[in-house]
Amino acid sequence: MTSKETRKRFLHFFVDKGHKIVPSAPMVIKDDPTLMFTNAGMNQFKEFFLGNSIAKNTRVVDTQKCLRVSGKHNDLEEVGKDTYHHTMFEMLGNWSFGDYFKPEAIKWSWELLTEVFKIDKDSLYVSVFEGSDDDGLSLDQEAFDLWKTIVPEDRIIMGNKKDNFWEMGDQGPCGPCSEIHVDIRSAEEKAKISGASLVNADHPQVVEIWNLVFMQYNRKADGSLESLPAKHVDTGMGFERLCMVLQGVQSNYDTDVFKPIIREIETITNHKYGKNEKTDIAIRVIADHIRAVSFSIADGQLPSNTGAGYVIRRILRRAIRYGFTFLDTKGPFMYRLVNVLTDSMGEAFPELKEQKQLIENVIKEEEHSFLNTLEQGLVLLDQVIANSQGKEVDGRKAFELYDTYGFPIDLTALILSEKGYSLDEAGFNEAMQEQKNRSKSASEVAKEDWVVLSNDVEQEFVGYDTLEADVRLVKYRKV
Ligand code: ATP
Ligand code: MG
Ligand code: MG
Ligand code: MG
Repeated sequence: MTSKETRKRFLHFFVDKGHKIVPSAPMVIKDDPTLMFTNAGMNQFKEFFLGNSIAKNTRVVDTQKCLRVSGKHNDLEEVGKDTYHHTMFEMLGNWSFGDYFKPEAIKWSWELLTEVFKIDKDSLYVSVFEGSDDDGLSLDQEAFDLWKTIVPEDRIIMGNKKDNFWEMGDQGPCGPCSEIHVDIRSAEEKAKISGASLVNADHPQVVEIWNLVFMQYNRKADGSLESLPAKHVDTGMGFERLCMVLQGVQSNYDTDVFKPIIREIETITNHKYGKNEKTDIAIRVIADHIRAVSFSIADGQLPSNTGAGYVIRRILRRAIRYGFTFLDTKGPFMYRLVNVLTDSMGEAFPELKEQKQLIENVIKEEEHSFLNTLEQGLVLLDQVIANSQGKEVDGRKAFELYDTYGFPIDLTALILSEKGYSLDEAGFNEAMQEQKNRSKSASEVAKEDWVVLSNDVEQEFVGYDTLEADVRLVKYRKV
């Protein structure tokens, strides 16, 4: 099943159960001081769960653009190394705001996966919250009993507070969850293993795809729990992981979500995917990061030196550096991937199509400016390494590279670890703090990096703006 069909079927399955399709919220958040990026489907519905506003529709379904590169959810280091964590991904979700609860949520999730998507029941595992002494909570019996009518007991896993109890924060709505995991081993692999040992929820190829959260408590300021008057359902399913399962492949990157991008990277770099682990990681990183960066720019968040813009710049530079080091890219290349990305995702996310030109221009400019300094910076880093005593590299020297050459610190750390060195992080942070104290307020600058994009007004190119030392950003204005 194609990814487009998968997305559609998910949404319409829940429409048939009385849900209303709502659009994804922006991936970049500008009005919440506690969160830079949407990292889960529930973010846009927070006020409903907190009881601060009332939902017009009590049953909602959507696909949410998420980014997990900072804060509570930071998957950046996994990306490229494994095949199912991305920076930017889509989280499919169905929601009940004080409407249905566990029986429907559980029954429907199973119906969708096994009857609509026809996933083999014997490859699925579910988990339930086992309880926690801290909170005086026992097993989520209700969920357990519901699952027992659907799956054999040896496929129900007991989950602890860390994995199976969701909390919005130190205070507020929370509750147990049930996760659904899929064994993605091929039929041939499974045929080689016999009997009971086949049922193995801990196998590395058993991957979490869906999390069903049952919000039924409120955590009070003193840490105690009280029952919520209205109970809610919040589910999140990794779209790319679902596509992997439905397309019978073992990596998200082998689905039609990523294949066109990977093919384009192969064409541009002349490196084939699937030949060598190092180049494969680089190709996966690039295929992943182009999405994060493009979606961010489509949301109006341009790369910059502060806040969310700096996170985006780091992601882009990380990809450029992977290309430069492992795929021998000589000039800008990331911007050339925007076309295939727009082709495959522009229908579901029209903002990509609408902002395509802007996305390409911004990325190309960033690439130019970064590549100019990258080569120089790499030479300097080699000198720093050569001059360092022992295996730890001076944090202040690393800061100089960051400050003068725009070397993101995780890039430096990555290069160092590849060469068997470590970084004096404390020294780096000290130098960074001193510089921050010298420079003007970050928020003032951050506003500058935000471009208001609108769907219904045409945009006219008005020229370049020099924002920072060596970075020229394309500016548009409404006409
Ligand atoms: P994992 O344990 O695999 O890191 P999670 O428990 O952190 O996942 P949830 O917060 O429960 O994930 O999010 C709901 C769903 O979103 C997951 O079941 C998974 O399918 C998907 N998901 C989570 N993180 C990522 C990611 N970085 N890339 C792609 N899909 C993801
Ligand atoms: Mg995670
Ligand atoms: Mg998990
Ligand atoms: Mg989870």
